[in-house]
Amino acid sequence: MTGYRGRFAPSPTGALHAGSLVAALASWLDARAHGGQWLVRIEDVDRPRCSPELARIILQQLSACGLQSDLPPLRQSSRSDLYQQALDQLVARHLAYPCDCTRRELEAAHSDTATPRPRNAERVYPGACRNGLKGSASNNKPLAWRARTDAGKPIQWKDRRLGAQEQDVEREVGDFVLQRADGCYSYQLAVVVDDAAQGITDVVRGEDLANNTARQILLQHQLGLPTPRYLHTPLVLGPNQEKLSKQNGAQSIDSTQPLAALNQAALVLGLPPREGSLSQALSAWVGDWNTRLKSVF
Ligand SMILES: [Zn+2]
Repeated sequence: MTGYRGRFAPSPTGALHAGSLVAALASWLDARAHGGQWLVRIEDVDRPRCSPELARIILQQLSACGLQSDLPPLRQSSRSDLYQQALDQLVARHLAYPCDCTRRELEAAHSDTATPRPRNAERVYPGACRNGLKGSASNNKPLAWRARTDAGKPIQWKDRRLGAQEQDVEREVGDFVLQRADGCYSYQLAVVVDDAAQGITDVVRGEDLANNTARQILLQHQLGLPTPRYLHTPLVLGPNQEKLSKQNGAQSIDSTQPLAALNQAALVLGLPPREGSLSQALSAWVGDWNTRLKSVF
């Protein structure tokens, strides 16, 4: 047994599809190849978009594929107190501030800037409330809370697959949201709190999340938490070359044919096809992953 602890953290906004199975399989194989533990965390912090029924389906799909959490799955919806404590810490240290910008104000600020924005890129928050609210606090309007990103240098980290990475969070993202005005804590805050609370040493997840890593490392620094190692796995692209997602109609995996679904995921990870029983295939892939650990990661 090593100190390795990995996790797979799906959001129950849709069932498991071919793309999310790649991340699940990679994180499971990495944990097994290191002789470590593998945990499943249900990231249902964005309550309006998540459903307990989908969480149940995802756990069932994983278990049909032979991927079972070593500890009972954690649900972010039950952990608000911890997220609030972290937010309070940041506020007390002047690293978070309230924001009363409306969507319209944010959009107007962006239409003023001439810089073209790449598709799907983050909109950089212009920092309008950094030095105080614009006066609407007296209206009892619900406030969002944002992280201050002007404290440090650009964040650098080494991804186990993508290599050296760097992001200037202030310039490329801006002061990002920690808690929305509707009370939901942000993905960034919840992930950082939970990875630390669960003692996660290795985050293995889809490459679409790579660009969140700098924000998470920044929060880890601000909260005095350790930074795990990161490995971002290749994405599965749909026919239009966009990442598979529930939004663009990705099909749920067929958990009555788990080995076929796993073979498809293995192919994306550059692993050879395997036959036989589910457990034979999985342990053969653990062997393949181990070999790769020695050469690539
Ligand atoms: Zn604001």
